[in-house]
Amino acid sequence: MNTLMAKYAAKLSATGLCAPGDVLMAALDDELAWSQPTDTGDPRRKLMGAVFAGMNISALLLARPAGVYQAVMVELARQALADGTTSGWGSITPGDCETRTFLHDLPVVDSMGADVVIQALRQRKGCVILNGDEVLVAAFGTVSPEQAYVTFSSMCFACFVAYFADHLLRARQGSLTPERQAAFERIKALLPEDRDDLPDLLPGPFESEDAAREALIQAGRHTVEYGLVDSYFGNISYRLGDTILISQTGSSLDELGACIDPCRMDGSSCAGITASSEYSAHKAVYEAEDNARAILHGHPRFSVILSLDCERLDCPKLGECHRACDTPRAVTDPSGGLGVPIVPGEVGTGPFGLCNTLPAALTGTSGEKRGAIVYGHGLFTLGAVDFRDAFATLMGVEHFCRAEYFRRVARLGGE
Ligand SMILES: [Zn+2]
Repeated sequence: MNTLMAKYAAKLSATGLCAPGDVLMAALDDELAWSQPTDTGDPRRKLMGAVFAGMNISALLLARPAGVYQAVMVELARQALADGTTSGWGSITPGDCETRTFLHDLPVVDSMGADVVIQALRQRKGCVILNGDEVLVAAFGTVSPEQAYVTFSSMCFACFVAYFADHLLRARQGSLTPERQAAFERIKALLPEDRDDLPDLLPGPFESEDAAREALIQAGRHTVEYGLVDSYFGNISYRLGDTILISQTGSSLDELGACIDPCRMDGSSCAGITASSEYSAHKAVYEAEDNARAILHGHPRFSVILSLDCERLDCPKLGECHRACDTPRAVTDPSGGLGVPIVPGEVGTGPFGLCNTLPAALTGTSGEKRGAIVYGHGLFTLGAVDFRDAFATLMGVEHFCRAEYFRRVARLGGE
């Protein structure tokens, strides 16, 4: 258990979500085990002990998000508490898909009191605690520390997206106050620089299952390392003849190892239950597109944020954008040969499923950078014979979206 907790604490600092000393995790084995074995009188321990006593959980994480995550969460938490109808309570409601399907909304409380934190955690998998001038995030797991880690990183992602999307929306509405603009300037300065070095990915085409697996594992790991997805959420596949090798649902892209399923395209054999929930979308793309053997899917932040931005503030479909948007939209950069459509689509195979919207969008693209953004969700990219072009597109589109985001904000007078 201690090794597991150390692993997730290390992941949180490697991805820049937390400073190493700011993560405290506890898990129930025979007795309560702590990620920091020595009790230095940290007040978080008392709170965490009380939560374990009051709830039927097996793991709990209480950590201070770092850098830009800390800054956006403080802003969102203050706003949520100001908007809340009950004193000391509020909630953050992000509009991205990860939150919609996984977290719903994020409760916010303004105290480290055990009662109020337990009350919030009984409603959701995690909560935001505004403690004076700083934010802490509590997240639990019922069976494993991994659940607490996934919830925590998802909450950070959701808040990042919610903050930047909200700022752009307010700029469009003309409702930015000088205080908001000042906070935005401060937060913008905390953003880490984009990486522009491409990883050295294996060259294809791959002709054996072993070689393809190795390429999937490598590309998945780099997608997480470059911050282009939270580890639990993306997916990746490679077509080998009539077989699609695809990451399993709920697998971490940086630890694919044994979590890759071979699925026959004629449906004769597939570990269909464990294959990614987006398998049907991947399959439809390969069926329609001969010139693609690789698909990479991540949740790059500014691609998601930009997909939420729409000029039609009075659109009758507002609130239904993720499933029913019928306005053709795209991220385009004529000078860079970039034309990435933004389409609606829910996870899975329902009537509004992205298996119906994504394949047409992806196969309609041409040029060097072939990809499509699913509204509020993430980016899917194609590779001709391996993951080198798929990865470069994932990164290139995200860089463009980040620059485009700040251009739009500037144009609207938001900075
Ligand atoms: Zn996704």
